[in-house]
Amino acid sequence: MKKETQLISAGRSKKYTQGVVNPVLQRASTVVFDSVAEFKEAAKNRGNHALFYGRRGTNTHFALQEAIAELEGGAGCALYPSGAAAIANTLLSFVKSGDHILMMDSAYEPTRDFCDKILQGMGVSTTYYDPTIGAGVSELIQDNTRVLFMESPGSITMEVQDVPSLVKAAKAHGLITMLDNTYGNGLSFRPLDFGVDISIQAATKYIVGHSDVMMGVSVATEEYWPTLRENSYLLGQCCSADDAYMALRGLRTMAVRLKQHEQSALQVANWLSEHPLVDHVRHPALPSCPGHEFFKRDFNGSNGLFSIVLKQGNQDALDALVEALHHFKMGFSWGGYESLITTNLTMKGLRSQTGWNFGPVVRLHIGLEDVEDLIADLSQGLDVYASKL
Ligand SMILES: *Cc1c(COP(=O)(O)O)cnc(C)c1O
Repeated sequence: MKKETQLISAGRSKKYTQGVVNPVLQRASTVVFDSVAEFKEAAKNRGNHALFYGRRGTNTHFALQEAIAELEGGAGCALYPSGAAAIANTLLSFVKSGDHILMMDSAYEPTRDFCDKILQGMGVSTTYYDPTIGAGVSELIQDNTRVLFMESPGSITMEVQDVPSLVKAAKAHGLITMLDNTYGNGLSFRPLDFGVDISIQAATKYIVGHSDVMMGVSVATEEYWPTLRENSYLLGQCCSADDAYMALRGLRTMAVRLKQHEQSALQVANWLSEHPLVDHVRHPALPSCPGHEFFKRDFNGSNGLFSIVLKQGNQDALDALVEALHHFKMGFSWGGYESLITTNLTMKGLRSQTGWNFGPVVRLHIGLEDVEDLIADLSQGLDVYASKL
């Protein structure tokens, strides 16, 4: 079965749908039992998609959890109220005081801040590694290293990681491997197929796909699923049935949305790579992106997200560019149907190991608007930019 087909049927068990296409929307805190025998049976199955208590989920949640576990090829999927919560709680589920984490230097900023501001205070230390380090990560592994954390491609600067080499090094030392797969989404990249133990996504992005729900998901292998499930439960993690319903609804159309995002973004990226103001384009499918060879080897496709590095600039010119655009709104998220832009003049504070010796970075999310309209918009925006240099 092709993945596009799988995405349509995953999680659609009659238990959850009661005979219609979509799962029932079951909002609940309390589950009630008619007999002690029924209660005991439910208690026995409580980690196993059976009604027990609201925080353990309802049939709406179970349908989504099964669909995403199938998409990512894992034993189970934990749900969280945001992508940031998924990352924080997945890490918290596996580290204790005295442990050490290896974190890539181009990690999503709140992931980095969680390590520096929360885990540090709990006695868990973090070393940042160059995202392009590959097998060289072995040299950074200490006796107390517990987790190797990856994100591929990295946030904003888009380095694609050599995941098989990183995993091999980590496994030789018995580390747990986690990967923020928000970009790879389970269709374009499946970390568990490459030996990663836990794949995490901000479902807020392409799974939900319409910029109207915050959610995080973590999918683990058979080995790590029971600990992830129970520890996330103890940390009080859950999400509303309405949000789970919306995420599953988004998931059903993700493949077709991604194809359009991918096609339009490639067209815009190719156009930008010829633009005189652009130093280089960091789109994983283009050779100018660090780690492009790993993207070609390991990914099934790209999507609407990429960055461009400008030859020169200043904050006033960047602000003028953003103000001049009509279809690209300034916004921190991505993965919805709309085009977005963020700018970074120097990348200051976002990297500690790998410096930044290039010009300003502009990150674009190419939405589902007509691509000619988007190119025309960027073209006039860059003319305004040039006039401010
Ligand atoms: C947006 C994002 C997150 C966080 O997701 P939220 O749902 O906004 O908390 C995590 N990782 C990456 C790569 C992201 O882009």
